[in-house]
Amino acid sequence: MIQFMKIITHSSKETIGLGERLGKRLQGGEVVCLFGDLGAGKTTLVKGIAKSLEITKRLLSPTYIIVRHYPINHKTAKTLYHIDLYRIKNVAETMDLGLKDWLSDKSAIVVIEWSERLEYLLPSDKIDIHFQYIDEYTREITIENT
Ligand code: ADP
Ligand code: MG
Repeated sequence: MIQFMKIITHSSKETIGLGERLGKRLQGGEVVCLFGDLGAGKTTLVKGIAKSLEITKRLLSPTYIIVRHYPINHKTAKTLYHIDLYRIKNVAETMDLGLKDWLSDKSAIVVIEWSERLEYLLPSDKIDIHFQYIDEYTREITIENT
């Protein structure tokens, strides 16, 4: 897969397009960690990933409910887990979520916003995506395979 890639997007549409290109390469068993401030474009990218997986249900931010999952029908992967840990304060609070099972589910694609809150629970083999706000419509996005 991609080792390191730096992209500038100039609209949310372009970020969705990037998510689609990335999503097409995912097969299941991947953990994708998204880093960046509120409004940086994390959820927007996940919309593109979901689109590429032919998920037609509208993708909503899981900020208040921590996780949303979507069945995938056309791939080796069976489920997309979209997790947002913004409201989680520390790793202890995540223990009850069932997160460990999702992280080890080889038929799942797991995408996590605010994954830094998971600390040592994160697998060493993951895809890190960093979002940098440049201006209203411009974001610098780096994708890195750890
Ligand atoms: P996050 O999940 O990181 O908090 P969101 O994806 O929910 O961020 O929100 C990003 C906001 O920034 C949206 O309102 C989106 O329309 C806007 N935006 C403007 N330009 C871009 C861009 N290039 N990429 C992604 N989002 C953008
Ligand atoms: Mg978000």
